[in-house]
Amino acid sequence: MACIFCQIVSGEVASEIMYRDDEVVAFRDIEARAPTHILIVPRKHVSSLAEVADEGLIGRMVKVAKELAKQEGIAERGYRLVINCGRDGGQVISHLHMHLLGGRHLSANMG
Ligand code: AMP
Ligand code: ZN
Repeated sequence: MACIFCQIVSGEVASEIMYRDDEVVAFRDIEARAPTHILIVPRKHVSSLAEVADEGLIGRMVKVAKELAKQEGIAERGYRLVINCGRDGGQVISHLHMHLLGGRHLSANMG
């Protein structure tokens, strides 16, 4: 089955790409829930955090998120990084992704 995030990584599906390198791609969430809502994904298809073999990948995604937070001008006021994992974690798209959310005050309620 086609994976929408793999299609964004390959350019088959258009998206507002914010960052790319040999391992990681970042693009704006199509249904932004905050003034800044960016998804950071590995180029390689990994279905979820549970399937990550080398956690160094998560560190690289965090580094990109921190850089993007600076670029977006939200680094000082603060922001949130979220990885939903599995059904109870609220993961809808089965390609590992980290949400970068900011630009407004986010509630402490984690849903
Ligand atoms: P999650 O619930 O963590 O799996 O989040 C999936 C996210 O992907 C949601 O915030 C969606 O709005 C977002 N999304 C789904 N399709 C696209 C797309 N084509 N381009 C950008 N973001 C998308
Ligand atoms: Zn994929």
